[in-house]
Amino acid sequence: MENNCLFCGIIKGEVPAAKVYEDEMCLAFKDINPQAPIHILLVPKEHVASLADTDDSHEMVLGKLLSRAKKLAGELGVDREGYRVVVNTNENGGQTVFHLHLHLLAGRVFLFPPG
Ligand code: 5GP
Ligand code: ZN
Repeated sequence: MENNCLFCGIIKGEVPAAKVYEDEMCLAFKDINPQAPIHILLVPKEHVASLADTDDSHEMVLGKLLSRAKKLAGELGVDREGYRVVVNTNENGGQTVFHLHLHLLAGRVFLFPPG
């Protein structure tokens, strides 16, 4: 838990969010400014600022987050048409909230490479 972290505030229930999944390690909720018809953020409950700040102790939660993104995509019925999972990391990666999160985006076609 870290002071002044927006996503820790959501995890603690102090900041409202539209939750779509929760377990002991992970929380998933809708992005407040969706970039696609489906735009969900998946976060570890334990604060870590970015993917670049993870170490071997985070391997399990990183696997859980990716696995949960896959399961949510299946539950939402977009697994066959396809989707994108994104982890913006630090300044060049375009990260704006410094609590590690995966974006699950679906419901439209995505271009590659991204801008
Ligand atoms: P980043 O740019 O760090 O990869 O992604 C941060 C994401 O958090 C953005 O897509 C942004 O719309 C989302 N976001 C920022 N503030 C809030 C908030 O208060 N609630 C929710 N649900 N999403 C937020
Ligand atoms: Zn945090």
